[in-house]
Amino acid sequence: MKLKYSPQDEAFRQEVRDFVATELPAGVRRKMQRGERLEREDLVAWYRRLYEKGWATPGWSREWGGTGWTPVQRHLFDEEILLGGAPRMVSSGIIMLGPVLIAFGTEAQKRRYLPDIQRSAVWWCQGFSEPGSGSDLASLRTTAVRDGDHYVVNGQKIWTSYAQFSDMMFCLVRTDPNARKPQEGISFLLIDMKAPGLTVRPIATLDGGRDLNEVFLDNVRVPVENLVGEENQGWTCAKYLLGHERGGIAGIGAAKQQLGRLRRLAGPRLGDPVFAAQVHRLEIELLALEATALRLLGAGQRSLAPAAQTSMLKVRGTELRQSIYRLMLEVAGPEAALWPGAHDDDALAELRALAPDYLDARKFSIYGGTNEVQRNLIAKALLAA
Ligand SMILES: Cc1cc2nc3c(=O)[nH]c(=O)nc-3n(C[C@H](O)[C@H](O)[C@H](O)COP(=O)(O)OP(=O)(O)OC[C@H]3O[C@@H](n4cnc5c(N)ncnc54)[C@H](O)[C@@H]3O)c2cc1C
Repeated sequence: MKLKYSPQDEAFRQEVRDFVATELPAGVRRKMQRGERLEREDLVAWYRRLYEKGWATPGWSREWGGTGWTPVQRHLFDEEILLGGAPRMVSSGIIMLGPVLIAFGTEAQKRRYLPDIQRSAVWWCQGFSEPGSGSDLASLRTTAVRDGDHYVVNGQKIWTSYAQFSDMMFCLVRTDPNARKPQEGISFLLIDMKAPGLTVRPIATLDGGRDLNEVFLDNVRVPVENLVGEENQGWTCAKYLLGHERGGIAGIGAAKQQLGRLRRLAGPRLGDPVFAAQVHRLEIELLALEATALRLLGAGQRSLAPAAQTSMLKVRGTELRQSIYRLMLEVAGPEAALWPGAHDDDALAELRALAPDYLDARKFSIYGGTNEVQRNLIAKALLAA
């Protein structure tokens, strides 16, 4: 069963589908099929194709290179990219920093940073979380003290995705330790990853990944012109940014793609009514999620803005995707007990990538704000009303 879209939207869907089929670099496609790690150059190769087509930054305002698509077109675009086997958009510069600079940056900051973000020439990471300050982000302790025309930054960030290959980091720092409320003493700074005193240390993850890091800042000097928005007003930028981060995390396109993969891997097992019922249940839940997302888009939301709805989609989407991975692991059986090897043939490589994929999927309900915290936000927004 499928949801119905207008003929114009279906034509748009087809255009995106054709683009992915012809433009996704072969090397990236193969790595995706085999479940292999993508390096910065793989992601950039694909994002550059999107940039050349004018599709790299659909979430940005038109003035700065957005596409001006309707929310439904954006939904279809996200879906077709993943269904076509391309990597999802993980550039923090494109998803998070770009919208913040457009909304809060100076003209000079926009001109300096936005074009390089758009063509993926400069890679950014997000320095928000700290040890002890994840869900309770406003308790962060990294300090920035003004010294002439610089801030001097000291502290530690953690779980910084892709810091190992980033050129720059957008960062929350405490500029006023005596503010009335912790949120009021925070500023938003742009930091060069090559600045003296900045060190990156990788964190190994269960799935064998190496994309998470700790970032240590020891008397790092940051020019004052790298402050975004007003000093001590960084929380406003952060809240705006988190809405953009969460918007895409529901991953409806990803769930469809993984359900297709589940069906393909299951093959004859779909003849087993007990197993088939589990697959159908996930399909129905996904259909309900898609219908909900479209209903919210149709209700006049320009985009999935920070709101209880975004949290709701994030919780349901991530739980659903985790259930799909659980069932895929079951399908792979003993093969999934072996770690992927460089010389596996493509079919075996795909099966053996399922255990790392399953473990990797555990993070869906943590990043972008944990699902427990999203439930709190939903409760506050809906029950307190
Ligand atoms: C793969 C991955 C990538 C990430 N990338 C980045 C990044 O690039 N940049 C960055 O800054 N951060 C990043 N993060 C960090 C992420 O934002 C935090 O992990 C997340 O906000 C949770 O914070 P925490 O890990 O400190 O857990 P904690 O806040 O310590 O939470 C621990 C547990 O307690 C629960 N809990 C906490 N508070 C409440 C509450 N009030 N009510 C109910 N339950 C609660 C949580 O749900 C969780 O289960 C990433 C995380 C992951 C897993």
